[in-house]
Amino acid sequence: MNDTICAISTPLGRGAISIVRMTGKNSLEIMRKVFSSKNLDYHKIIPRYLYLGNFLLGDAVERCLAVYFKNPNSYTGEDMVEFQVHGGTLLTQEVLNVLLENGCRLAENGEFTKRAFENGKISLDMAESVIAEINAESEAELRSTLGLAQGRLNGKIRLLQESLTETLAEIEATLDYPEEDFEELVKDKIFKNIENVKREIQTFLENAKNARIMTQGLNVAIVGAPNVGKSSTLNALIGEDRAIVTNIEGTTRDTLTESIAYNGIKINFIDTAGIRDSKDIVEKIGIEKSKKSIDNADVVLFMLDASREMNDFDKQIERLLEDKDNVITILNKCDLPIKLQKNKQKTQKKQEIIEISALNEQNIEKIKETIFKKVLGEDIDYSKTLITSTRHIEALKEGLQICNEIEKSKKQSMDIVAMLIKNLWNVLGKITGETENEDIIDLIFSKFCLGK
Ligand code: GDP
Repeated sequence: MNDTICAISTPLGRGAISIVRMTGKNSLEIMRKVFSSKNLDYHKIIPRYLYLGNFLLGDAVERCLAVYFKNPNSYTGEDMVEFQVHGGTLLTQEVLNVLLENGCRLAENGEFTKRAFENGKISLDMAESVIAEINAESEAELRSTLGLAQGRLNGKIRLLQESLTETLAEIEATLDYPEEDFEELVKDKIFKNIENVKREIQTFLENAKNARIMTQGLNVAIVGAPNVGKSSTLNALIGEDRAIVTNIEGTTRDTLTESIAYNGIKINFIDTAGIRDSKDIVEKIGIEKSKKSIDNADVVLFMLDASREMNDFDKQIERLLEDKDNVITILNKCDLPIKLQKNKQKTQKKQEIIEISALNEQNIEKIKETIFKKVLGEDIDYSKTLITSTRHIEALKEGLQICNEIEKSKKQSMDIVAMLIKNLWNVLGKITGETENEDIIDLIFSKFCLGK
């Protein structure tokens, strides 16, 4: 059995109760260390029975409910324990910390479901749907999840596979009748079809980027010199939405990420906040940090203080952003007399400029609106096939590579072309699940081979 992992299974934030659960071989042993109940004798613990008792939080205790699931009768198929504690972010986090201190490891995203899959509790497709569904923090994402579940992607990929099968059949025919004219004619058709398949794959991959934004949110880096008003702007952007700010995941000590929902999309704002206090090293680290967040961002908010001239720090960041087309320049402090002379030539191209006052919360909505439009256009097209699974994306990338190889193989013999097309068929089969049986391609292939 695997090591024991734990996680908060309910959304963080306000709520009457939160559930913290663990799975793995030491679940019961760890439960014994942290939970006691007068009704509970650990030698005779009853699985699936709800025990009321005390969870030990250092010197304090939390009155809570606990339930033990004995393997294999649990969600993951392993020994599992669930604690139902009072809601609230701090308390839930503390319960989690105690479990971590007692030998649990923090679960990775989707790891409970992954174990359920590994232990044969659910199928791979189901696991992927569950994972996408849990992550569906916004409406757009949920719709894409449903789309996935309906097998829209599968249907489309199957069509591509069918067209490849036909192509293979035609190649086979040319091998049977090796007159040159015939081969040239068929070759033309084959490469046209591959071009078509390639285009479809490219579209899927483009849509996958949108799907990534829908599942994980759109990443916006806020960069700018100290004191231009980055954190004031972040606060204004978060505003009343603070209650729905999601947990800060994977953030390092010196960046701050806060998320809001806008038009059904999660927007993650990444502020290089932690560097604010260390004045002497601020420039060096500040530039480095900014660089990093710029590279990882879908949109960069470049903040300037409109009430003063541009300084060296501003100019350095401006240089970093020179060739980017995902930058929105924010002129802050427009409530003060404006002194900034922005060099128009440098803010060329598609860089938008928004004048705001973080202090008076002026034009803040305009920032959100512009970010959304810049990345997703006017609206989201839900009818597109949105791909959220990394496994599918990887298969598509691999498929694209093979398409490129096929295109390069125009001068090669038909055998080689046919082999590459078979590879492509198999890679697409990773999505439709039709590669497991290696003979299947031959089976389908044989159906199309006239006269064989
Ligand atoms: P950061 O270092 O870039 O995060 O900047 P802060 O958000 O900490 O702001 C620096 C200073 O500028 C603070 O004293 C803010 O009160 C002030 N400030 C921020 N935004 C505005 C604004 O729109 N107008 C005015 N007048 N002052 C502002």
